[in-house]
Amino acid sequence: MEPVKVINTIAEAKNIIKRLKAGGKTIGFVPTMGYFHEGHLDLMRRSLKECGETFISIFVNPMQFGPREDLAAYPRDLQRDIALSSGAGVKYIFHPDAKEMYPDGFQTVVKAGRLATGFCGASRPGHFDGVCTVVAKLFNIITPDFAYFGMKDYQQLVIIEKMTADLNMGVNIVKCPTMREKDGLAMSSRNSYLSPDGRAAAPALARGIQKAGSRIIDAILNPPNPDGEVMAAIAAEFETDLIKNGFDSLDYFKIADSETLDEFKDAAALRTAGKIFVAAAAYIGKTRLIDNIVFDNPLK
Ligand code: AMP
Repeated sequence: MEPVKVINTIAEAKNIIKRLKAGGKTIGFVPTMGYFHEGHLDLMRRSLKECGETFISIFVNPMQFGPREDLAAYPRDLQRDIALSSGAGVKYIFHPDAKEMYPDGFQTVVKAGRLATGFCGASRPGHFDGVCTVVAKLFNIITPDFAYFGMKDYQQLVIIEKMTADLNMGVNIVKCPTMREKDGLAMSSRNSYLSPDGRAAAPALARGIQKAGSRIIDAILNPPNPDGEVMAAIAAEFETDLIKNGFDSLDYFKIADSETLDEFKDAAALRTAGKIFVAAAAYIGKTRLIDNIVFDNPLK
């Protein structure tokens, strides 16, 4: 096995990419903030299978954290990440520091549009501008043919797809399914913040979203009367179950169109929907967990 190469500078990354591209290689790219779990490794394996060469990046991007968020506490373990990703077959890890990505005088921002206003964007102002800016920079550095993103962060995925199309970046965005623990909890680097009690409570988020999904399908197939109240009832039941199962508070629960992220207000609107997106964010102590599902309208 070739040794893995950890690249710290943009100049070196560009040189290597130039060489690989001159050799006709297709480049796959997996941007991450590190502290790997199976979700990250699944994206890497997929890129390794589908592309001639795969670059991953590990960069905890300060620009996407709010002033009261967990930038300093965000879990990091570079040696473990190198071992796990090279074990999966990765040969190139781009790992710049903040000064390399944001040198003194840096001032240009990619501003996410309407897709970023609700859901996580409402509770994390500026977060998706930070995500778009760093991903645009990484795309310009790595110039990948394909970039792999997880459905776990579904809003992020559709925002990146839109940015790539709007700014003619020519990168194909590949959507990868959410990897889960055996009890259904979506894998996340932030799960490491949870106490044993918190970890035991956490799968209630995925369970509640699944249950809401079944209720939505039922409301579409067996139209309730009156039509509007069923949405409020599903949301109220979701929140009650979550708190009963050990969560401290709900940030949001929403049922929306999976492409526009526009919320459905009643069951009549759901019946004409294409794909339906059910998403929630909730707190256990200070830990904010997110999860979602996307499914077809059973009438289509
Ligand atoms: P992060 O390191 O959390 O920024 O995530 C890097 C990439 O991994 C993003 O595209 C995420 O959506 C993806 N990802 C994170 N968790 C999961 C998961 N449980 N399943 C699939 N992809 C994931």
